[in-house]
Amino acid sequence: MKRKVAVSTLGCKLNFAESSAIAQQFVRNGFTEVSPYSSGVDVYVVNTCTVTEHSDKKCRNIIRRLHKINPDAVIAVTGCYATLKKAEIEAIEGVSFVLEQDRKGSVYARCMEVLEGSPCGISSAEHIFPAISYGERTRSFLKVQDGCDYFCTYCAIPYARGRSRSVPVDTLVSQATEIAGRGVKEIVLTGVNIGDYDGGLLPVLQTLEKVDGIERYRISSIEPNLLTDEMIDWIASGTKFQPHFHIPLQSGSDSVLKRMHRKYETALFASKIGYIRKKMGDVFFGIDVIAGFPGETDGEFDSEIAFLKEIRPAFLHIFPYSRRKGTLADKMEGHLPESVKTERVKRLESLSDALHEEYRLRFVGTRQEVLFEGRVKGGLMGGYTGNYLRVERPYIAEQIGQIVPVIY
Ligand code: SF4
Repeated sequence: MKRKVAVSTLGCKLNFAESSAIAQQFVRNGFTEVSPYSSGVDVYVVNTCTVTEHSDKKCRNIIRRLHKINPDAVIAVTGCYATLKKAEIEAIEGVSFVLEQDRKGSVYARCMEVLEGSPCGISSAEHIFPAISYGERTRSFLKVQDGCDYFCTYCAIPYARGRSRSVPVDTLVSQATEIAGRGVKEIVLTGVNIGDYDGGLLPVLQTLEKVDGIERYRISSIEPNLLTDEMIDWIASGTKFQPHFHIPLQSGSDSVLKRMHRKYETALFASKIGYIRKKMGDVFFGIDVIAGFPGETDGEFDSEIAFLKEIRPAFLHIFPYSRRKGTLADKMEGHLPESVKTERVKRLESLSDALHEEYRLRFVGTRQEVLFEGRVKGGLMGGYTGNYLRVERPYIAEQIGQIVPVIY
């Protein structure tokens, strides 16, 4: 009987792409991938995240739950939380071993050592672990870069994932070609700080653009200071890169940005948004913001709201500030009470809802191309336009995985 592996993932798209690559290693070696809550699982891989305290807690709860379901299974824990708090995780009952972020590529080999009771010889830390997600039939996440050299004061990721390093272009091209061979039409490029790609991101985009079969690309997120005018000009020249940008702002107040050690001010951010709109029209901007950074005053928060109303993104990804041990922000004065953070999150959420509705309404009645991804509730199928608007229509099996014109 085939052995069973289940992978449980928390956190970012990059983690999901890496989990998918880990699962493929097991499947290629004769395992069946099953849901974490199945019976008779031989190996669990828990790919953790440490972006907030809540993520840490969620990881611990998942590990305990999996051990309860299948007490004899090997439990391998990896990812950012596993890197920063190895001892804390090793102490959880049922955990077989913990592998740090830079050793993620060795998870399969270590699990086999535990299962077979002998070393299999693959134990060296991998420099960078290429990863593609295959979970969806229509869209894959392709990891192009890992790690970060920026050390923003609130962020633990550079400590967990290490310094910035890039997947070689020829590896990316063969992975994109493999993805296209599976009939997938859209690739989302992922990484921790993609714009910091070694040697520049633009040549990578230009090379990937030429891969036959891939009809759409998106960049999961890019730092505003690394989004060059040259890159915008090229994307705007009729490429497969969609009119959808995810850009982390984090604060709309220059004094807070300075305390965060971000590498730009609001003026640069606004000028990038303005330049993209000038070149590409009414594109979808998804913007990350952190609510309640230490010492954020009412005035600083109000100037953030005013800035967001001025630049009018289509959506806000909102994160309440969460203390991360070892970061500079953790040691700063002026940590805000949870009630203040919650209130600011709520204000940002209602602004995001209003901005999204305002953006969406501008497209009602227009012709859009939708890549339908699969069946959803109520006999419908769902997908996204190039500018990332969600569309649902009555289910037609032949249209899944296809780019179909619709009137929005
Ligand atoms: S750019 Fe800043 S927030 Fe983003 S991963 Fe690097 S250190 Fe963290």
